Formats: sequence, C-alpha cells, structure tokens
Amino acid sequence: MFYRDTWVEVDLDRIRHNVTNIKRHSGFEHLFAVVKANAYGHGDLQVARAALDAGADMLSVAFLDEALHLRRAIKDVPILVMGPIRPADLAVAAEQDIHVTAHDLQWLEAVLGYSGKAVNLHLKIDTGMHRIGLTDAASVARACAMIDSNPCLLRTGLFTHFATADAATRDGYDSQVRRLEALTAGIDLAEFRYVHLSNSAALLRFGRQSMANAGRLGISMYGLPPSHEFELPFELQQAFSLHSRITQIKTLDPGSAVSYGATFVAGERIRVGVMPIGYADGWLRYHQGRQVEINGALYPIVGRICMDQCMVQIDDRVHLGDQVDLINDSLTVEAAARDLDTIGYEIVCSISDRVPRVYK
Ligand code: PLP
Repeated sequence: MFYRDTWVEVDLDRIRHNVTNIKRHSGFEHLFAVVKANAYGHGDLQVARAALDAGADMLSVAFLDEALHLRRAIKDVPILVMGPIRPADLAVAAEQDIHVTAHDLQWLEAVLGYSGKAVNLHLKIDTGMHRIGLTDAASVARACAMIDSNPCLLRTGLFTHFATADAATRDGYDSQVRRLEALTAGIDLAEFRYVHLSNSAALLRFGRQSMANAGRLGISMYGLPPSHEFELPFELQQAFSLHSRITQIKTLDPGSAVSYGATFVAGERIRVGVMPIGYADGWLRYHQGRQVEINGALYPIVGRICMDQCMVQIDDRVHLGDQVDLINDSLTVEAAARDLDTIGYEIVCSISDRVPRVYK
C-alpha cells in the first residue's frame, strides 16, 4: 500500500524471459543472479525469486547486509558476497550459510584462526580490473594452502571480474583470461565447485570460457544492454518503467518563470503540469529539458527539478490525474543514460527507495 502518485513498475515476466534466454545462450551449468543494490533498484527479493524460477541457481550481492536480507526470505540457495566482508563477521556469514569472498592474503591471515560452522570461500583473482583480488600466482597458491590448512574454511569458488568486456575490442577481455590462466596454472581448478568469470557483457558476447562453469549476470537480466559497443545476440526486454501523475495544472502568462532559479521563462501563454517526483527520488536535476510521455504524446520537463516535484509543459489534451511515463518502452533507460552521459546501471540504481515498486 502506498499513498503517492509516483511508482516504478517491474515486469517480472520480462526478467524471467531474459534469464531463460541468457542461460540458454551462455551454456553455463550455474548462473548467479546479481541482485546487489536492491537488484539494481528493481527489488531484491522479487527479482531473486523470478531469476531462480527462470534458471538462475545462485544469488550474489556486494555486501553482507544485502545477503542477510535475502537469506531471511530465501533458504537453500547459495548467496555470494562478492565484496570483502570484515574478518570479524565471518561467523555471521557462516551461520547463515552465506558464501564469502577471499580477496587477499592479509584477510585470509585474519580469518585463519576461525573455528565454527564451515564457511564457503570464493577466491577473488585480480586479472586486470585492479579493484579487489589476488594479483600474482604465488599469492593464489598461498591462499589455497591457507584455506586448506583450516577445515572450517572451504575452497568453494574462484572468480575474476572483467574491466572491459563491453569495450569496442576484445583485447582487454582476452588478456584478462590469459592472466587468469597464468595465475592459476599452479593449482587445480577442478577442486573448485564454481569457477565464474563472466559479467553480462562477457556472457552475451563471448559465451562460456573453457575453465568456467558459472557466470554472474546483472544488467542483462534486467533487460538493459551492458554497452552499445557490441550487438546483442538476442533481444533483451527492459523490466523497469517509471510513472507519475499530474497533480496540478496552471496556465502561465508570457514572462512567467518556472521553479528555482527561474531557469525557464514562458515565451507565450503556456500550460504547465506538476508531477510529484524530484531529485530525492533519484529523478535528478539533469533530467530538466528531457521529455516525458502523457497519453502517447511527448512533453518537456521545464524549470529546475525540485526535491519532490517537477513541472512539465503540456497542452489541452492533458488533464489532472493523467499518467506520466518518465521511463517506458520508448523512453528507455538507455535513452536516459545517453542523454545524461552515464550508463543504464546508474539510472535504475538512482531511483530511490522512496519510490514504491509495483510488480506485474
Ligand atoms: N560481478 C561483479 C564482481 C560485479 O561487481 C558485477 C556488477 O557490477 C557483476 C558481476 C554483474 O555485472 P553486470 O551487471 O554487468 O552483468
């Protein structure tokens, strides 16, 4: 139940459709549905359940809090925290059967004395992203030996993350795969239950790597392309749309200014509608001047976007209470990202928790 005229609609059928197609295309035995950041703003529990329905068999998130939130509702499915957790929190993760990332030797030293319920660790290898992960072959071998020295630590997974799988050329991707081969040459990859390298771009573009049996699927599951640098192998269906309603209409005389800073001044007699959505909802000031759709026609946002409201220049066809589409199948997430010189990920993640999510 909610009491405001602004909402996100998430089409879970489209998420299922995307996951089914991606799983078929990838050839991976296992698929992590990446549902961090409240499933990229779509709703973590709802998306997780839809993705699991459609063939994903594991979940992954960035932080332990996110994993615990999922675990309260979803039992018996592996959940991986892909970022570092605090060594002191290992027992909390183990108790809830959360898989944890082992990203460097110092961290492993800090957990080496751990005793308690056995915990599944995934070794993170840095092959070129230069974010978290082990960076040389000796450290990888040492990390394996450290884990094997403690029966409460399980060597369950091994993974890396691609920095440029979505770039115009595949050179960066190829060099990261080669680097992974070099860094793991001294260990037996068959000893890991899960070897997972691919994000959406790598998965859609290059398919399964010979050493991997799993992929981590984020943006494409939501129906959004990872980049425009390559052709998608099949159509993705955008699951996210954003809507509001006209809550007041006024007619302004020529010379009247709209909103803070008077950045828009009416050149003639115009009609303006007010919508209850603003930058505190993640509808950022950069959207000023962009178009929204009302009853099938396009109208521009005029004046500064306020914290909770913004204004749109309308005509006689628009009435009080009419629905406004800010993101839909024609005003796409990608189009907004291009206009704002950013990526689709940032558009959907920015729509704040204050905006209710409804599901169909
Ligand atoms: N794996 C890791 C470690 C990530 O950080 C992310 C997302 O940023 C993903 C997988 C999923 O990437 P994508 O959303 O591009 O599929």
